[in-house]
Amino acid sequence: MVAVTIWNEFRHEREDDEVAAVYPDGIHATLAAALEDDHEVRTATLDDPEHGLTEEVLDGTDVLLWWGHKAHDEVDDLVVDRVQERVLDGMGLLVLHSGHYSKPFKRLMGTTCSLQWREDGATERLWVVDPGHPIADGLDEYVELPETEMYGEPFDVPEPDRLVFTSWFEGGEVFRSGCCYRRGSGRIFYFRPGHETYPIYENEAVRRVLRNAVDWAAPTEGAPRTFGHRD
Ligand code: ZN
Repeated sequence: MVAVTIWNEFRHEREDDEVAAVYPDGIHATLAAALEDDHEVRTATLDDPEHGLTEEVLDGTDVLLWWGHKAHDEVDDLVVDRVQERVLDGMGLLVLHSGHYSKPFKRLMGTTCSLQWREDGATERLWVVDPGHPIADGLDEYVELPETEMYGEPFDVPEPDRLVFTSWFEGGEVFRSGCCYRRGSGRIFYFRPGHETYPIYENEAVRRVLRNAVDWAAPTEGAPRTFGHRD
């Protein structure tokens, strides 16, 4: 079974009643419920020692999920180094929603990862623009999310290797919501849906995407990465 570690900042849910009402046990618990039937799942949070991402935990992780929003700066650079190294070595990484501004994602992208946003609870249509991609497996031609925070272009990330979803928002904006990358031997998927005051991760289609993306990002055997002087 694919070993998944779900990392959550876990501050909003403890400090804000509106968020606690949507995710009473934390966003990580809801994400875990979406994955635990067919994956080996553990969770880690910012306030755990070493943010719960010790070398031992990361060495035993096939795919890491990352949800953060208000405390990106509190993530220790040593842990960021460790995540980057594991990705280059083959660990999969799913970066969710406001994780676009997280240190590991910015490090791995090398750009600002900035975008436009508006918190107005408007409708989003998440269009599948790569229907044959394994991350879109089992979906309809689009997923409609009735209440969302808008993210708009330009999204300052490198051109994705594959773009699986493009979002349309009621306000007229569009956004590249499902971006696939390779860094070293690792696969990275950025997935936009998931604002803390809307129950996005309870949505069955969104959960399907998360399961598909974890399976897509899981490491494959490959060949050894050998560098340096050669006799
Ligand atoms: Zn948000």
